[in-house]
Amino acid sequence: MKKVLIILLLLLTLNTASAVSEITLNDVKRPQSAILFIVDGFGSSYYYPELTPTAIDGSELNKTGGLNLTFGTRVVNIKTPHPVTGIAHSVIVTGYSEANEETVGYPDATIYDITRQHGFVNLAVMEKGDFSNMRNEQDIILFAENNSIDKPLVSIQAKNAPSGIYELMFDWKMKLPGYMNSTSGAGKYSAYNKWAIDAAHAVVKEMIKNHPSQKFLLTVNIGGIDSGGHNLGDDDYVKLIEDLDRDFYPLYRTASDNNIALFFTADHGMSFAVKNARRGGHSSEKYSSKQESLRIPLVILSPNTGHAVLGGEYGQEDIAPTLLSVLDLPDNLQYADGKAINVKNYASIFVKADSKYTVSLWNSGRKLSESSDSELIFAGLPLNASYTLKAKGSGSAFEEQVSLDSDKQFNFNSANSGLNTRSIVAIILILAVIIGGIFVIKRIQD
Ligand SMILES: [Zn+2]
Repeated sequence: MKKVLIILLLLLTLNTASAVSEITLNDVKRPQSAILFIVDGFGSSYYYPELTPTAIDGSELNKTGGLNLTFGTRVVNIKTPHPVTGIAHSVIVTGYSEANEETVGYPDATIYDITRQHGFVNLAVMEKGDFSNMRNEQDIILFAENNSIDKPLVSIQAKNAPSGIYELMFDWKMKLPGYMNSTSGAGKYSAYNKWAIDAAHAVVKEMIKNHPSQKFLLTVNIGGIDSGGHNLGDDDYVKLIEDLDRDFYPLYRTASDNNIALFFTADHGMSFAVKNARRGGHSSEKYSSKQESLRIPLVILSPNTGHAVLGGEYGQEDIAPTLLSVLDLPDNLQYADGKAINVKNYASIFVKADSKYTVSLWNSGRKLSESSDSELIFAGLPLNASYTLKAKGSGSAFEEQVSLDSDKQFNFNSANSGLNTRSIVAIILILAVIIGGIFVIKRIQD
């Protein structure tokens, strides 16, 4: 009985399994992996050259240059819809402006669901923003169980860690006291940040050395700038940003030298009531509508993006679709209302189709490529060119004219493809087997 059930389940799984064909049409440089680096509570107002931070009373606050933190493509005007840690992290990973911690747990809601479907492992080192649904999205995460700088408590949660990563994270968990001992004042907050940066850097180097062909998405959150803003005041807050600029540089170099895309951002910013305030905030009513709480940095370093300062208004919900676009992954985020920011120097076409269809891409009457699969990615297409996309098979034919100003998505599945006859038959058979099994068990018990 059990065997029959397993065979039927296998049949059903095989029937719905999807395969991805990646077709790269030109010699383009796409990143193999990515780092999503979130600096908790880091307002771009305090280091972007275009911006000047002010306190609630209108007085001008200090800022810093942040030279290393302006690499790559920089988006000037991007804001979080909700300057609250858990919510803003949920917006970052789902691309949905109304997301919360619960949304992150829904199927196909996050960037991690998409990366996993395309052969990535999801790794994380997080001091804040590491709520339960966020941790569950990761194959392995080194995280802080509390928000204490004085008595930090670090833990590891793992399910499918690449070999050696658990051991490495355990070593880094043990190294934290060494970073924190004999520090005081703002130095303690910087040491806490540096520990997470160095731990994340060690994970990246380990992946490069021992898993060179394994794609990964590493999410990092450092918590010291946010804690410093809350507990120390505006002068030390800017001092912590200068320290971050220095301590971040080695990780930036490693990403840049190893074909790893780097997305540098924050969950929200920080506001102060007056100059020389001893406490700051971002989420309470007093602070939450201040530009200094809402404005966040977004800087992207990737071999397939340029070095530009981007104007225009963007939202934090645009980060997830942009990250997927840079990695040439389809934006199949279930709840996203954000749109990919055009930072890639080519475009890609993502097609979902019946795997029995033949999908072909044409340019000026010439066939560029032809393939069959349930998911096809045509990457590396020059921007601002026109293409014809065709799909043919079993009496159906589709044709689309595409003018490529950015990535495009198409679905060439027939309308009733949700459950086909084979799936329905398989489900009925499985139900019959289960009901039959219950009868047998009942008779044995009787
Ligand atoms: Zn935060």
